[in-house]
Amino acid sequence: MKRILSILGSSGSIGQQTLKVAECCGQEVAAIAVNRSVELAEAQARKFRPRLAVAADENAAADLRVRLADTAVTVLSGQEGLLEAASMPEADTVVTAVVGVAGLRPTLAAIDCGKRIALANKETLVCAGELVMARAKETGAEIVPVDSEHSAIFQCLQGCRNRGEVRRLIITASGGPFYGERREVLSLVTKAQALKHPNWAMGPKITIDSATLMNKGLEFIEAMRLYAMPPEKIQIVVHRESIVHSLVEFEDGAILAQLGSADMCLPIQYALTWPERTPGPAKSLDLLSCPPLTFQQPDPETFRCLGLALECAKKGGTSTAILNGANEAAVALFLEDKTGFLDIPRLVEAALERVPVTDTPGLDDILDADRAAREAVLKAMR
Ligand code: MG
Repeated sequence: MKRILSILGSSGSIGQQTLKVAECCGQEVAAIAVNRSVELAEAQARKFRPRLAVAADENAAADLRVRLADTAVTVLSGQEGLLEAASMPEADTVVTAVVGVAGLRPTLAAIDCGKRIALANKETLVCAGELVMARAKETGAEIVPVDSEHSAIFQCLQGCRNRGEVRRLIITASGGPFYGERREVLSLVTKAQALKHPNWAMGPKITIDSATLMNKGLEFIEAMRLYAMPPEKIQIVVHRESIVHSLVEFEDGAILAQLGSADMCLPIQYALTWPERTPGPAKSLDLLSCPPLTFQQPDPETFRCLGLALECAKKGGTSTAILNGANEAAVALFLEDKTGFLDIPRLVEAALERVPVTDTPGLDDILDADRAAREAVLKAMR
């Protein structure tokens, strides 16, 4: 089926791969949205001819407007621009590939319009999962995950008529570049080392999250929300080879897994074409040249970010929004060379200690918690 896409975050790693999939599978693009990458946005707009191009940054939008003056593309800016792209009538599918909690409001706007959400923004579900899923149920918006682990689980659940038959979800983790290292080694990790992921090419924020294992913690919470599973029914296993993307165990003991090469084009494409499967750009996996598949226990004590996320998963309420906001702030500081690798869990923990948790929060409580967590991180830096 041909879909008409609005891609929020088209200049990022997922956004660019979405355009590759769109080109390969003949999907139409109605809108693209970037933060500041005008050069790339111009090239994308000229190639895909969307009706709308958004740059969240006002100055960038002014620049983009000049660059696209000879085209029929409308250029908008700011949060309003993002919301317009999320809810434009001609798009039936919104790819939410904005990084961070900034993706929350546009995702909700798209859900309110009943669009299919190709969800590539895990922070949205981590912060406001219950709210987002309830809203989607009301409007009939389909949420199809792009995250490779959640896509794998989604694929394994096709044909499962009764969720009560699921015994547990098993999320695989590559372990990141520092798996097996001790804290003394982690304390010396540099930004350049942390930005080198062994298996996946991704944007800087998620690559740091993968190195601290916060990414796996966020994915654990994302899976709870997406599949309405309690934490005790979700297990994380370290799988260094990144070939098995995740698994589902059923009540009879059968385990289904989804395997493939470490190529995000496949989960992106499935989020667009589901329930159909079509040829696409993802590389085929040659089983005969695969290394032996191994599975190990994760270490949430050494990788304290994972431990903190698992605690918040159990606690619920706004604790997951505090966790996420503090992590976004701490990772930004690390990427600016203002803090060390092990300061990331230290700052997140400080925020979790300082910011009070609200149970069954509304959207405002969640956004307040996010703000308070970021402030607590800055305070803990002083
Ligand atoms: Mg993932």
